[in-house]
Amino acid sequence: MSQSLVTMSYIVATILFIFSLSGLSNQETARRGNYYGMLGMAIAIVATALSASVTSYAILIVALLIGGAIGARAALKVEMTQMPELVAIMHSLVGMAAVLVGYANFMDSSLSLSGVEKNIHEIEIYIGILIGAVTFSGSVIAFGKLSERISGKPMLLPGRHWFNLCLLIAAVVLGWLFLQQTETGGGLSPLLLMTVIALLFGIHMVMAIGGADMPVVVSMLNSYSGWAAAATGFMLSNDLLIVTGALVGSSGAILSYIMCRAMNRNFISVIAGGFGTGSGGEAAVIEGEVTPINAEETAQLLLAAKNIVIIPGYGMAVAQAQHTVNEITKLLRDKGKKVGFGIHPVAGRMPGHMNVLLAEAKVPYDIVYEMDEINEDWAHVDVSIVIGANDIVNPSALDDPNSPIAGMPVLECWKGETTIVLKRSMASGYAGVGNPLFVLENTRMLFGDANATMQAVLKALKE
Ligand code: NDP
Repeated sequence: MSQSLVTMSYIVATILFIFSLSGLSNQETARRGNYYGMLGMAIAIVATALSASVTSYAILIVALLIGGAIGARAALKVEMTQMPELVAIMHSLVGMAAVLVGYANFMDSSLSLSGVEKNIHEIEIYIGILIGAVTFSGSVIAFGKLSERISGKPMLLPGRHWFNLCLLIAAVVLGWLFLQQTETGGGLSPLLLMTVIALLFGIHMVMAIGGADMPVVVSMLNSYSGWAAAATGFMLSNDLLIVTGALVGSSGAILSYIMCRAMNRNFISVIAGGFGTGSGGEAAVIEGEVTPINAEETAQLLLAAKNIVIIPGYGMAVAQAQHTVNEITKLLRDKGKKVGFGIHPVAGRMPGHMNVLLAEAKVPYDIVYEMDEINEDWAHVDVSIVIGANDIVNPSALDDPNSPIAGMPVLECWKGETTIVLKRSMASGYAGVGNPLFVLENTRMLFGDANATMQAVLKALKE
């Protein structure tokens, strides 16, 4: 394929990626956005494979087959609740690719650059490996935390900020030493040392983040993986990779900002770590009696209500209750009830987790509301059903300054007439914080797996 045709294809792919991102910003156009992204990626792969830079088709085809088979198997096998882990481990691969491409470029003796060109190329290599290594090790730790292979509690080393500062200074000094090397192939030692430092930094950064701050880390690593891809694009002089990486990097950065705002947190303090430790004092102990309720009583409350709000959380994903929830919603709406869904920005384990589940169950988009819209309306709500959510409906976030999640905006369902909470036990949620909502006078607890209890409620509603 001629270079101009490759460039044309890259431009088309870039435009499709931009359409894809704009489509993904809205639930109604998200499916179309995905198709644009898939088409753009297919064009990008074909154009790159047919470009003059590919010389060995045998290696390429074997790599495509192996990578494609692993990707297809992972996508087919993964449970919806494991999506965040899959995304985290995929980010680590982008980081690893940037590191490997960096070293391959460093060892490539066919390039004979000099002067400013050589310096720029070396800076690209150094920064590419740095971002790639941080992304790789950070994503592996995030994968461990999200899949509960590593404790979600923040690991706080004494003097950790100084430790981070030392790592940063060391990376800068090593970068300077790397650029001073004049011999071809020189500078390997500072490069290797920096890689170890960047790997350590990635591990330390994510280990120190705990409790409810993980959403920011997930979107931040998404952003890093974009910048790692952009750095790879610079090293390979591939414009499409630079643009795509920049798109992912900047959209991930915007998402991190949105997540921080949703949790009322400052980005720098999230990165500094330690949220979820209760360092400001002791969080209040939850005392009081819970009032259990059964499926039949729940159905009666729903039948007597006019305005109902459903708050889904991580437990709905675990129970895969979204289809039953949709059936109940249809039935109640047919009976003339007003039913809405209140979505917290950090509900579940990845950005947009609940929206994906509700879209999968075909819940109409126009009854799905954001937290701020719902929070204005609690005075008119007769019954709210909290399905496997915990941290996102915890009143102590608002009224206990010592709570590890103090300051995080939550769905204030207790301001409605009655709240029914569906969960299996009194266990706490991701942030590990007790929830006083469960013992409030107007709260009823419907214990059991959310899908089983929702099925029982559906049966009772039909009788
Ligand atoms: P939580 O993790 O706070 O609570 C989920 C609740 O679901 C648990 O208390 C659990 O209680 C219940 N549950 C689990 N399985 C079932 C089941 N089968 N049936 C019924 N209930 C079940 O989830 P939230 O959605 O309220 O909050 C999300 C939390 O995750 C926040 O702290 C957020 O910061 C964090 N997070 C979010 C990310 C994101 O991007 N959205 C990323 C990483 C973390 P029990 O065991 O008693 O059933």
